Amino acid sequence: MNDPAKGVPVVLTIAGFDPSGGAGIIADIKTIHSFGCKPVAAITSLTFQNSETFFGASHQTAESVRSQVLAITEEFEVAAVKIGMLSTAEIVREVARLVSETNLPAPVVDPVLRSSSGHSLIEEDAIGVLISELLPLARLITPNIPEAERLSGLTITSEGEMREAAQRLRQMGARAVLVKGGHLLNHGSDAIDVLDQEDEVCVFRNEWIKGRTLRGSGCILSSAVAAGLAKRKSLTESVRDAKVFVADAIRQALSFSRKRW
Ligand code: PLP
Repeated sequence: MNDPAKGVPVVLTIAGFDPSGGAGIIADIKTIHSFGCKPVAAITSLTFQNSETFFGASHQTAESVRSQVLAITEEFEVAAVKIGMLSTAEIVREVARLVSETNLPAPVVDPVLRSSSGHSLIEEDAIGVLISELLPLARLITPNIPEAERLSGLTITSEGEMREAAQRLRQMGARAVLVKGGHLLNHGSDAIDVLDQEDEVCVFRNEWIKGRTLRGSGCILSSAVAAGLAKRKSLTESVRDAKVFVADAIRQALSFSRKRW
């Protein structure tokens, strides 16, 4: 294995490209780099969007995704994988195949369904394939509330229901589940996230940061967790550090937008 950045863990992101850099692969690469890891990337879809509007997308073929990933695995020993936007059933199937056929580590899967502007980022028939083929291969899945509801079939309006959904998703095959409570309406003053691993449920409570949600925060969080795992931190520690990193990114974005206006 020829790894030019010897000693620096390599983190692979398999995700969509957002040219405005708010979400997707650019957000992933910035995050992975900030955690002192080397980012490598395979693009699943070129999206045409900026921070206001989603204009459309040109999805890659399964072959294109496979060729990108194999070019990476031929050169690098990948220490952790983050998976984001997978637009079509054939791409989901191909990514599941790549994870099980190569020596890639079990991935952190952000089951991206919609953009923050409400545009669907995955074709309807791909959702079932995501559940049946990719979820059982995941080290961790990181759904927000609407994603957890869609994948588990449960309605979530409370911390108790977040716990139930996390347990259900683990029963469906994921080794660990982090349900992100950012979309919970009756949250009080805390932001709640539920991490369910085999023999342990951990609830993270953090101060609710008021303001617009940060586009790409799910991408940043899942990449940060993958970078933590690549650096051999435990899953709980990786999630805790990733949450601190996202909270800082949200605060920075808010103070930047206040300065602009
Ligand atoms: N990936 C891509 C390419 C996107 O465009 C988006 C949202 O627009 C996402 C992922 C999901 O973003 P978020 O982290 O805000 O859930």
